[in-house]
Amino acid sequence: MAARILEGRVFAQKFKEDAGTKAAELKEKYGIAPGLAVIIVGENPASQVYVRNKHKSCEELGIYSEVISMPEDTTKEALLEKIDALNGDSKIHGILVQLPLPKQIAADEPEILNRIDPAKDVDGFHPVNVGRLVTGEDALVPCTPAGCIRMLELADIPMDGKHAVVIGRSNIVGKPMFHLLLSKNATVTVCHSHTANLAEITREADILVAAIGKPNFVTADMVKPGAAVIDVGINRIAPKKLVGDVDFEQVKEVAGAITPVPGGVGLLTVAMLMQNVVKAMEMQMKR
Ligand code: NDP
Repeated sequence: MAARILEGRVFAQKFKEDAGTKAAELKEKYGIAPGLAVIIVGENPASQVYVRNKHKSCEELGIYSEVISMPEDTTKEALLEKIDALNGDSKIHGILVQLPLPKQIAADEPEILNRIDPAKDVDGFHPVNVGRLVTGEDALVPCTPAGCIRMLELADIPMDGKHAVVIGRSNIVGKPMFHLLLSKNATVTVCHSHTANLAEITREADILVAAIGKPNFVTADMVKPGAAVIDVGINRIAPKKLVGDVDFEQVKEVAGAITPVPGGVGLLTVAMLMQNVVKAMEMQMKR
């Protein structure tokens, strides 16, 4: 039997509705809307599209949004100064620096991201938030893995007591996914490029998360019949053709549930960012 298709837009819509409702409640209670500032340095066309989408989502949901465009030749000092100003700006509850940074400051990325007040770190990349996630405290969590977990919950796919396998161990996806699945009482295995007998491990997975960055890497023989397969990968294989890390056509015949690419996890990320902005304001107001 072919798998249930987990359509990203359905879940993204729900995340956005929830964020919009909470944004209105916060505005009512405190007299100010949640606010997001996005800093974009340079002219990277893909980044410009991402930033526009974030701004548009904020506008739709009643979240205040500022886009700060800085020139390609921005220095580290100028960027840090801007972050400091936003850290102290009471209209702004969430700050993010759009990546990648131009080459003259690319190596300074950790220092730049760590300058963001952890309370406003809506990307969840700051070591304070990473630490809170690991210790199980309330944290701002990276949007993509947080969105995947919320989608599994809304889709009634059980995690408690299940074996989850994550392929990929990046700080943005794989590692936070590991901690989030663990917090849902899954037994979690993380695989990476040095993992031996990968297919043997993935075939044990009730929940298989692919965050690799290799087109159609996960094939049907790597998937347990009935498993939930979450494809985080976004790979451009032709100017207008995106595919995931999972061979969707093959794997959907084996899996119990699967996310498509495009139209799956990719749509969750901005919607989850909206939830993080609202959550950041809630946390700041309680301080
Ligand atoms: P990274 O390149 O940072 O990490 C890739 C991971 O895959 C690494 O841990 C690497 O292992 C592992 N890997 C690579 N080759 C293999 C292999 N042959 N076998 C097993 N593991 C392997 O990527 P990201 O985590 O940032 O992103 C992963 C994918 O998700 C990309 O396609 C990216 O575009 C997409 N993405 C999508 C988002 C969305 O909104 N939907 C958001 C973020 C990312 P090792 O550590 O050993 O090198």
